[in-house]
Amino acid sequence: MNTPGPRLRIGIDIGGTKTDAVAIDAEGRVIHELRLATGFGADSVLATSVEAVQRLAGLVGGTADDFASIGIGIPGAVDVASGRVEHAVNLGLSGLDLGSELESRLGRAVRVENDVNAAALGAFSLLGRTPSQSMAYLNLGTGLAAGLVLGGRLWRGSRGVAGEIGHIPVDPAGPLCPCGQRGCLELMASGSAVARQWPTDDPKPVRALFAAADAGDTLAREVRVRLVENVAAAVRLLVLTVDVDDVVIGGGLSSLGDVLLADVRTVLQRWADSSEFLASLQLPDRIALVPSDFPAAAVGAALVGDAEPVIATVEIAGPV
Ligand SMILES: [Zn+2]
Repeated sequence: MNTPGPRLRIGIDIGGTKTDAVAIDAEGRVIHELRLATGFGADSVLATSVEAVQRLAGLVGGTADDFASIGIGIPGAVDVASGRVEHAVNLGLSGLDLGSELESRLGRAVRVENDVNAAALGAFSLLGRTPSQSMAYLNLGTGLAAGLVLGGRLWRGSRGVAGEIGHIPVDPAGPLCPCGQRGCLELMASGSAVARQWPTDDPKPVRALFAAADAGDTLAREVRVRLVENVAAAVRLLVLTVDVDDVVIGGGLSSLGDVLLADVRTVLQRWADSSEFLASLQLPDRIALVPSDFPAAAVGAALVGDAEPVIATVEIAGPV
């Protein structure tokens, strides 16, 4: 590589239709950024990932070996130890050894992480919090899920399911969820929830929903209220479960911007007005939005490749 100084890290966020790739420096600043279309199926996902690395390498005048680390964020169930991806339905992947396949193509190690967890790391770095602090990243996209950064590190849980709050049932009489339960939170507060309750051909359906509600459409108002109340419920759930310092909202719906934040804050404040307990938690002050132009999952994927220890740093004292 021609440039002196600390080496850059690569992060790649593989989405259902597009792949965002970044090269970040030691301070987490995005130095290079590019976007590619994502094809369907294992061969396309692998080819897109390799192309992203090669193009970033071209931008710095080097090869894949010139980067300090390479990390991938991808939807689905990810085994971070092996780099295997399961159930990435939107990508047509039903089981792919993404980490080892890329390692054989690129000639070096690649870390793989679930995309919401990667975005959580990216959002945490953007907040500029100290490692002792904690944050929940609430992803409002087609579905609803959270990533937890506790004490500066991702908390994946014993089976990698930590933060899957979209499948907590909130309405026993609600519609059937693809997960087999009824009335899941995701069915009330997500892009798919809006699509089911208020179908539209508008290319920006949630924005159209909010506009229709503002214009007095009764159904749109109901769906908007349900959406916002359940986003607020997700914030309350995350704070009451892990008492994170901040809940940062990202994903496609966060492009609504301040309107969404103001709506959610209004609900949280209403709850606080009728509950001293909730008032003491200061929930309206603890939520924020990921800026829509910040590639949180790609930046976080780069941090996964570098910051996540493979070996536990905690020493176990004495015989067990
Ligand atoms: Zn469900």
